[in-house]
Amino acid sequence: MLAGKCLMFLVETLKSTKIFPTNITTWCFFRTCRRAGVLHSVVAIEPKTKNQHIIWKGQLLKAVRHWHKYGHREQAEALLVDTWPGPWDLEQTSYVDKALASLRAYMNRDAHQPLELIYEAHLFQEPITRSGRFTPLFLTDGVDGVAIHNNKAYLVVHRVGPELEDLSVFSQTEFATALRASYLSMKLEIAGVVYNRIVLHDSETPENGVGKRQYLPFGQDQLAASRNRLWPLAKSFNLAKTRPRLAKANDAACHQDGKTCPFYDFCVKGTLKNYRFKGGSPLSDEERADYLDVLLAKKVVPKNKIRQAIKP
Ligand code: SF4
Repeated sequence: MLAGKCLMFLVETLKSTKIFPTNITTWCFFRTCRRAGVLHSVVAIEPKTKNQHIIWKGQLLKAVRHWHKYGHREQAEALLVDTWPGPWDLEQTSYVDKALASLRAYMNRDAHQPLELIYEAHLFQEPITRSGRFTPLFLTDGVDGVAIHNNKAYLVVHRVGPELEDLSVFSQTEFATALRASYLSMKLEIAGVVYNRIVLHDSETPENGVGKRQYLPFGQDQLAASRNRLWPLAKSFNLAKTRPRLAKANDAACHQDGKTCPFYDFCVKGTLKNYRFKGGSPLSDEERADYLDVLLAKKVVPKNKIRQAIKP
Protein backbone atom coordinates (compact mmCIF):
# COMPACT_ATOMS: atom_id res chain seq x y z
CA MET A 1 0.00 0.00 0.00
CA LEU A 2 2.73 2.39 1.09
CA ALA A 3 4.88 1.36 -1.87
CA GLY A 4 1.93 2.08 -4.20
CA LYS A 5 1.50 5.58 -2.74
CA CYS A 6 5.23 6.26 -3.09
CA LEU A 7 5.10 5.17 -6.71
CA MET A 8 2.12 7.46 -7.38
CA PHE A 9 3.98 10.34 -5.73
CA LEU A 10 7.04 9.65 -7.89
CA VAL A 11 4.94 9.59 -11.08
CA GLU A 12 3.27 12.91 -10.15
CA THR A 13 6.62 14.49 -9.32
CA LEU A 14 8.14 13.36 -12.61
CA LYS A 15 5.09 14.67 -14.49
CA SER A 16 5.42 18.08 -12.91
CA THR A 17 9.14 18.39 -13.67
CA LYS A 18 8.94 17.30 -17.31
CA ILE A 19 10.68 19.79 -19.58
CA PHE A 20 7.93 21.97 -20.89
CA PRO A 21 8.21 24.12 -24.04
CA THR A 22 6.34 27.41 -24.21
CA ASN A 23 6.42 30.26 -26.66
CA ILE A 24 5.62 33.94 -26.56
CA THR A 25 2.02 33.31 -27.61
CA THR A 26 1.68 31.06 -24.53
CA TRP A 27 2.58 33.97 -22.28
CA CYS A 28 0.47 36.51 -24.16
CA PHE A 29 -2.52 34.21 -23.58
CA PHE A 30 -1.63 33.21 -20.04
CA ARG A 31 -1.14 36.75 -18.73
CA THR A 32 -4.66 37.74 -19.83
CA CYS A 33 -6.39 34.42 -19.15
CA ARG A 34 -4.91 31.37 -17.36
CA ARG A 35 -7.38 29.10 -19.15
CA ALA A 36 -6.34 30.29 -22.61
CA GLY A 37 -2.66 29.77 -21.78
CA VAL A 38 -3.11 26.12 -20.76
CA LEU A 39 -5.44 25.39 -23.67
CA HIS A 40 -2.78 26.76 -25.99
CA SER A 41 0.27 25.02 -24.53
CA VAL A 42 -0.64 22.33 -21.98
CA VAL A 43 -3.54 20.50 -23.56
CA ALA A 44 -2.49 22.19 -26.80
CA ILE A 45 -5.69 22.31 -28.79
CA GLU A 46 -6.25 24.48 -31.84
CA PRO A 47 -9.28 25.31 -34.00
CA LYS A 48 -9.62 22.96 -36.98
CA THR A 49 -10.01 25.86 -39.38
CA LYS A 50 -7.64 28.78 -39.37
CA ASN A 51 -8.83 32.34 -39.46
CA GLN A 52 -8.26 33.84 -42.95
CA HIS A 53 -6.54 36.86 -41.51
CA ILE A 54 -3.98 34.67 -39.73
CA ILE A 55 -3.30 32.69 -42.91
CA TRP A 56 -2.91 35.88 -44.89
CA LYS A 57 -0.47 37.46 -42.45
CA GLY A 58 1.47 34.23 -41.98
CA GLN A 59 2.01 33.68 -45.70
CA LEU A 60 3.04 37.27 -46.25
CA LEU A 61 5.54 37.18 -43.39
CA LYS A 62 7.02 33.91 -44.61
CA ALA A 63 7.62 35.45 -48.05
CA VAL A 64 9.05 38.68 -46.57
CA ARG A 65 11.53 36.68 -44.45
CA HIS A 66 12.55 34.72 -47.55
CA TRP A 67 13.09 37.99 -49.42
CA HIS A 68 15.34 39.30 -46.64
CA LYS A 69 17.29 36.07 -46.50
CA TYR A 70 17.86 35.43 -50.22
CA GLY A 71 16.90 38.72 -51.96
CA HIS A 72 15.13 36.68 -54.64
CA ARG A 73 11.90 38.29 -55.77
CA GLU A 74 10.42 35.41 -57.82
CA GLN A 75 11.21 32.81 -55.16
CA ALA A 76 9.52 34.91 -52.47
CA GLU A 77 6.39 35.26 -54.62
CA ALA A 78 6.38 31.54 -55.44
CA LEU A 79 6.72 30.67 -51.74
CA LEU A 80 3.74 32.83 -50.86
CA VAL A 81 1.50 31.29 -53.52
CA ASP A 82 2.67 27.67 -53.61
CA THR A 83 2.45 27.06 -49.88
CA TRP A 84 -0.93 28.78 -49.41
CA PRO A 85 -3.26 26.27 -47.72
CA GLY A 86 -6.38 25.22 -49.63
CA PRO A 87 -9.16 24.92 -50.51
CA TRP A 88 -8.73 27.33 -53.40
CA ASP A 89 -11.96 29.15 -54.16
CA LEU A 90 -12.79 32.65 -55.37
CA GLU A 91 -12.57 34.19 -51.91
CA GLN A 92 -9.23 32.53 -51.24
CA THR A 93 -7.88 33.66 -54.62
CA SER A 94 -8.70 37.27 -53.81
CA TYR A 95 -6.75 36.97 -50.52
CA VAL A 96 -3.78 35.54 -52.44
CA ASP A 97 -3.94 38.44 -54.93
CA LYS A 98 -3.95 41.01 -52.12
CA ALA A 99 -1.08 39.32 -50.30
CA LEU A 100 0.93 39.19 -53.53
CA ALA A 101 0.28 42.89 -54.19
CA SER A 102 1.38 43.73 -50.63
CA LEU A 103 4.53 41.63 -51.00
CA ARG A 104 5.47 43.24 -54.32
CA ALA A 105 4.96 46.75 -52.98
CA TYR A 106 7.07 45.88 -49.95
CA MET A 107 9.92 44.41 -52.04
CA ASN A 108 9.89 47.49 -54.32
CA ARG A 109 10.33 49.73 -51.33
CA ASP A 110 12.95 47.54 -49.67
CA ALA A 111 14.99 47.39 -52.88
CA HIS A 112 15.34 51.22 -52.64
CA GLN A 113 15.66 51.56 -48.86
CA PRO A 114 17.01 48.22 -47.66
CA LEU A 115 16.66 47.04 -44.13
CA GLU A 116 20.29 46.48 -43.15
CA LEU A 117 20.10 43.07 -41.53
CA ILE A 118 23.12 41.78 -39.62
CA TYR A 119 21.24 38.66 -38.45
CA GLU A 120 18.40 36.98 -40.25
CA ALA A 121 15.28 35.53 -38.70
CA HIS A 122 16.19 32.74 -36.30
CA LEU A 123 14.81 30.67 -33.45
CA PHE A 124 15.98 30.75 -29.86
CA GLN A 125 15.41 28.45 -26.92
CA GLU A 126 16.16 29.50 -23.35
CA PRO A 127 15.21 28.10 -19.95
CA ILE A 128 12.97 30.39 -17.90
CA THR A 129 15.02 31.22 -14.82
CA ARG A 130 15.51 33.98 -12.31
CA SER A 131 18.45 34.64 -9.97
CA GLY A 132 19.56 31.02 -10.05
CA ARG A 133 16.02 29.68 -9.60
CA PHE A 134 14.64 27.33 -12.23
CA THR A 135 11.38 25.98 -13.58
CA PRO A 136 11.14 23.10 -16.06
CA LEU A 137 9.81 25.67 -18.56
CA PHE A 138 11.57 26.72 -21.73
CA LEU A 139 10.85 29.66 -23.98
CA THR A 140 11.19 28.66 -27.62
CA ASP A 141 10.42 31.31 -30.17
CA GLY A 142 11.90 33.36 -32.96
CA VAL A 143 13.01 36.85 -33.89
CA ASP A 144 12.57 38.46 -37.31
CA GLY A 145 16.22 39.51 -37.35
CA VAL A 146 18.58 42.20 -36.16
CA ALA A 147 19.21 45.35 -38.23
CA ILE A 148 21.92 47.96 -37.99
CA HIS A 149 20.95 51.63 -37.81
CA ASN A 150 23.33 54.51 -36.95
CA ASN A 151 25.89 51.89 -35.94
CA LYS A 152 23.57 50.35 -33.39
CA ALA A 153 21.76 47.00 -33.42
CA TYR A 154 17.95 46.90 -33.41
CA LEU A 155 15.58 43.98 -33.01
CA VAL A 156 13.45 43.71 -36.17
CA VAL A 157 9.72 43.23 -35.72
CA HIS A 158 7.71 42.86 -38.91
CA ARG A 159 4.26 44.37 -38.51
CA VAL A 160 1.57 43.49 -41.03
CA GLY A 161 -1.38 45.85 -40.92
CA PRO A 162 -2.80 49.21 -41.82
CA GLU A 163 -0.31 52.00 -42.39
CA LEU A 164 -1.84 54.42 -39.92
CA GLU A 165 -1.23 52.29 -36.84
CA ASP A 166 0.59 54.54 -34.37
CA LEU A 167 3.58 53.10 -32.54
CA SER A 168 5.36 56.26 -31.55
CA VAL A 169 6.77 54.92 -28.28
CA PHE A 170 8.14 51.58 -27.26
CA SER A 171 5.54 50.66 -24.72
CA GLN A 172 5.74 48.37 -21.72
CA THR A 173 2.48 46.93 -22.98
CA GLU A 174 4.33 45.56 -25.97
CA PHE A 175 4.81 42.41 -23.96
CA ALA A 176 5.76 40.09 -26.82
CA THR A 177 8.32 42.48 -28.28
CA ALA A 178 9.83 43.23 -24.89
CA LEU A 179 10.23 39.52 -24.14
CA ARG A 180 11.92 38.82 -27.46
CA ALA A 181 14.21 41.80 -26.96
CA SER A 182 15.13 40.82 -23.44
CA TYR A 183 16.11 37.28 -24.47
CA LEU A 184 18.07 38.59 -27.45
CA SER A 185 19.87 41.12 -25.25
CA MET A 186 21.40 38.26 -23.25
CA LYS A 187 23.48 37.48 -26.34
CA LEU A 188 23.86 40.84 -28.04
CA GLU A 189 23.81 44.50 -27.11
CA ILE A 190 20.75 45.98 -28.74
CA ALA A 191 19.67 49.59 -28.71
CA GLY A 192 15.99 49.20 -29.49
CA VAL A 193 13.38 47.83 -31.82
CA VAL A 194 12.61 48.63 -35.43
CA TYR A 195 8.96 48.20 -36.35
CA ASN A 196 9.01 47.32 -40.03
CA ARG A 197 5.56 47.98 -41.49
CA ILE A 198 4.23 45.77 -44.24
CA VAL A 199 1.01 47.33 -45.39
CA LEU A 200 -1.91 45.26 -46.59
CA HIS A 201 -3.50 46.70 -49.69
CA ASP A 202 -5.44 45.73 -52.77
CA SER A 203 -3.13 46.59 -55.61
CA GLU A 204 0.55 47.11 -56.20
CA THR A 205 1.01 50.83 -55.66
CA PRO A 206 4.64 51.38 -54.77
CA GLU A 207 4.23 55.13 -54.23
CA ASN A 208 1.45 54.89 -51.66
CA GLY A 209 0.62 52.73 -48.75
CA VAL A 210 3.91 50.89 -48.54
CA GLY A 211 4.51 51.40 -44.84
CA LYS A 212 7.55 52.73 -43.05
CA ARG A 213 10.12 51.82 -40.43
CA GLN A 214 10.25 53.19 -36.93
CA TYR A 215 13.41 52.87 -34.86
CA LEU A 216 12.52 53.08 -31.20
CA PRO A 217 15.17 52.94 -28.46
CA PHE A 218 14.65 51.17 -25.16
CA GLY A 219 16.58 50.91 -21.94
CA GLN A 220 18.07 47.91 -20.16
CA ASP A 221 15.64 48.53 -17.27
CA GLN A 222 12.69 47.97 -19.63
CA LEU A 223 14.18 44.66 -20.75
CA ALA A 224 14.84 43.51 -17.19
CA ALA A 225 11.25 44.49 -16.27
CA SER A 226 9.81 42.27 -18.99
CA ARG A 227 11.83 39.27 -17.77
CA ASN A 228 10.73 40.02 -14.22
CA ARG A 229 7.10 40.06 -15.34
CA LEU A 230 7.54 36.61 -16.84
CA TRP A 231 8.77 34.96 -13.62
CA PRO A 232 5.54 35.05 -11.54
CA LEU A 233 3.60 33.98 -14.63
CA ALA A 234 5.97 31.05 -15.09
CA LYS A 235 5.49 29.94 -11.48
CA SER A 236 1.68 30.01 -11.88
CA PHE A 237 1.87 28.18 -15.20
CA ASN A 238 4.10 25.53 -13.67
CA LEU A 239 1.39 24.78 -11.10
CA ALA A 240 -1.54 25.05 -13.51
CA LYS A 241 -0.01 22.62 -16.01
CA THR A 242 -0.87 19.68 -13.75
CA ARG A 243 -3.79 21.23 -11.83
CA PRO A 244 -6.75 22.14 -14.07
CA ARG A 245 -8.49 23.92 -11.16
CA LEU A 246 -5.82 26.61 -11.37
CA ALA A 247 -6.53 27.26 -15.05
CA LYS A 248 -8.99 30.01 -14.20
CA ALA A 249 -11.14 31.54 -16.90
CA ASN A 250 -11.19 35.30 -17.34
CA ASP A 251 -14.44 36.40 -19.00
CA ALA A 252 -13.07 39.89 -19.55
CA ALA A 253 -10.51 38.51 -22.03
CA CYS A 254 -12.94 36.63 -24.32
CA HIS A 255 -13.35 39.49 -26.79
CA GLN A 256 -10.25 41.62 -26.46
CA ASP A 257 -9.07 44.15 -29.06
CA GLY A 258 -12.00 43.26 -31.30
CA LYS A 259 -10.92 39.60 -31.53
CA THR A 260 -12.75 36.58 -30.12
CA CYS A 261 -10.57 34.15 -28.18
CA PRO A 262 -9.80 31.06 -30.32
CA PHE A 263 -10.91 28.78 -27.44
CA TYR A 264 -14.31 30.40 -27.07
CA ASP A 265 -16.32 27.46 -28.47
CA PHE A 266 -14.78 25.04 -26.02
CA CYS A 267 -14.58 27.31 -23.05
CA VAL A 268 -17.98 29.00 -23.23
CA LYS A 269 -20.11 26.59 -25.26
CA GLY A 270 -18.41 23.44 -23.98
CA THR A 271 -17.96 21.91 -27.43
CA LEU A 272 -14.79 20.29 -28.68
CA LYS A 273 -15.89 19.35 -32.19
CA ASN A 274 -14.19 22.38 -33.78
CA TYR A 275 -10.81 21.59 -32.23
CA ARG A 276 -7.97 19.15 -32.62
CA PHE A 277 -4.86 18.34 -30.63
CA LYS A 278 -1.75 19.93 -32.03
CA GLY A 279 1.87 18.85 -31.48
CA GLY A 280 4.16 20.39 -28.89
CA SER A 281 2.64 19.26 -25.60
CA PRO A 282 4.86 16.93 -23.55
CA LEU A 283 1.69 15.36 -22.09
CA SER A 284 0.30 12.20 -23.66
CA ASP A 285 -3.05 12.40 -25.49
CA GLU A 286 -4.62 10.57 -22.55
CA GLU A 287 -3.31 13.13 -20.05
CA ARG A 288 -4.52 15.95 -22.27
CA ALA A 289 -7.98 14.37 -22.55
CA ASP A 290 -8.11 13.97 -18.75
CA TYR A 291 -7.23 17.62 -18.30
CA LEU A 292 -10.03 18.68 -20.68
CA ASP A 293 -12.47 16.38 -18.88
CA VAL A 294 -11.76 18.14 -15.61
CA LEU A 295 -12.27 21.55 -17.20
CA LEU A 296 -15.58 20.43 -18.67
CA ALA A 297 -16.76 18.63 -15.53
CA LYS A 298 -15.91 21.56 -13.27
CA LYS A 299 -17.96 23.85 -15.48
CA VAL A 300 -15.57 26.65 -14.69
CA VAL A 301 -17.62 28.84 -16.97
CA PRO A 302 -20.87 29.44 -15.07
CA LYS A 303 -24.05 27.87 -16.46
CA ASN A 304 -25.81 31.18 -16.99
CA LYS A 305 -22.91 32.29 -19.21
CA ILE A 306 -23.22 29.08 -21.24
CA ARG A 307 -26.98 29.67 -21.63
CA GLN A 308 -26.34 33.24 -22.77
CA ALA A 309 -23.76 32.08 -25.28
CA ILE A 310 -25.87 29.38 -26.90
CA LYS A 311 -29.07 31.44 -26.92
CA PRO A 312 -30.17 31.94 -30.57
S1 SF4 B 1 -12.98 32.08 -23.99
FE1 SF4 B 1 -12.48 33.67 -22.47
S2 SF4 B 1 -12.35 32.62 -20.50
FE2 SF4 B 1 -12.21 31.07 -22.13
S3 SF4 B 1 -10.07 30.76 -22.54
FE3 SF4 B 1 -10.74 32.31 -23.96
S4 SF4 B 1 -10.35 34.25 -22.92
FE4 SF4 B 1 -10.27 32.66 -21.37
